[in-house]
Amino acid sequence: MRRVLVKGAGVAGLTVAHELAVRGASVTVAEVRGQIGGNASWLAGGMLAPWCERESAEEAVITLGENAADWWERTLPGLVSRAGTLVVAHARDAFELARFATRTRNHQTADEKAIAALEPDLAGRFRQGLLFAGEAHLDPRRALEALAGKLRAMGVVFLFEAGEVALSGFDQVIDCTGIARADDDLRGMRGEMLILRTQEVSLARPVRLLHPRHPIYIVPRADHHFMVGATMIESDHDGPITARSLMELLNAAYAVHPAFGEAEIVETGVGVRPAYPDNLPRVKRWGDGAITINGLYRHGFLLSPAMADQAAGLLFNSSADLESENEADRQWRSA
Ligand SMILES: Cc1cc2nc3c(=O)[nH]c(=O)nc-3n(C[C@H](O)[C@H](O)[C@H](O)COP(=O)(O)OP(=O)(O)OC[C@H]3O[C@@H](n4cnc5c(N)ncnc54)[C@H](O)[C@@H]3O)c2cc1C
Repeated sequence: MRRVLVKGAGVAGLTVAHELAVRGASVTVAEVRGQIGGNASWLAGGMLAPWCERESAEEAVITLGENAADWWERTLPGLVSRAGTLVVAHARDAFELARFATRTRNHQTADEKAIAALEPDLAGRFRQGLLFAGEAHLDPRRALEALAGKLRAMGVVFLFEAGEVALSGFDQVIDCTGIARADDDLRGMRGEMLILRTQEVSLARPVRLLHPRHPIYIVPRADHHFMVGATMIESDHDGPITARSLMELLNAAYAVHPAFGEAEIVETGVGVRPAYPDNLPRVKRWGDGAITINGLYRHGFLLSPAMADQAAGLLFNSSADLESENEADRQWRSA
């Protein structure tokens, strides 16, 4: 049995721990913090939106991400919502919607009536939008906690507040330490977000508001909570949200629905997305034998299943391993 040390308990670390454990490896996850969730991962919106993301990303975001919702649903049944994504713009920004439509696919136009049918609380607020019906979302915190719970049940060991772990007990190290990884090609992309709570608004799906300067999205969560995100700032500074960013996110949320003006601000947060120059993730094998999964940028939940599969594929490829994969998953499901 291969003994693997996974460094980092963000979405990259937990997804690869899963893919290794189901293939029969003995997995230990070491995390410098006191809990799972990572730096960027805990702050994410949880959108599984490859077709929307294609607007500003390479085609690989679709090829690597189009099966992500299936992976999350298969791995943690019941956590994925498949209600699609609604993209809207105010009438003065109609050109933004036209541009977005030309740069993406797998969408249908939604007129005022269709928008009202999809999201009754947005009735009368937008004349035109785009529905990406094939997209999905999940609550990243619930997903990470459920994934860690499943991993523990499968025998994965977690070491928190872990310093340097002795490598002698392991055959392989997989480094998923995000922006902390010493890799000259990596850079940080600061993302500020907030969580609002209001009883006055209900949304069934993520809503993206296009705007020439401040595009935002609002992702609904349980109990009338809404994640509003996110800034994109070329910086690895993880200090508190700035007044300007807070103001801009709140203004944009208010522009989606004025009731957000009365919402409680439950939380503000800042995560640093790790990114390579082309904003695409990499599985790399280093000179010392370590494997890294990094550069997940805006797409950690969307692309980590494919990256985890690639990394696990470097270690396992025999049919015996696939049999053990099926057996481990069967045992978890019947428990
Ligand atoms: C505001 C915001 C919104 C986002 N929205 C989405 C979205 O809707 N959909 C989507 O798919 N993606 C989204 N993302 C992107 C996604 O969050 C990131 O791509 C992803 O979280 C990166 O995951 P990671 O595991 O590589 O890094 P991290 O989550 O940063 O995890 C790295 C972990 O490694 C630990 N660590 C560091 N050094 C060590 C060490 N030496 N030993 C052990 N552990 C160590 C850290 O403490 C941390 O826990 C968003 C990001 C942000 C900031």
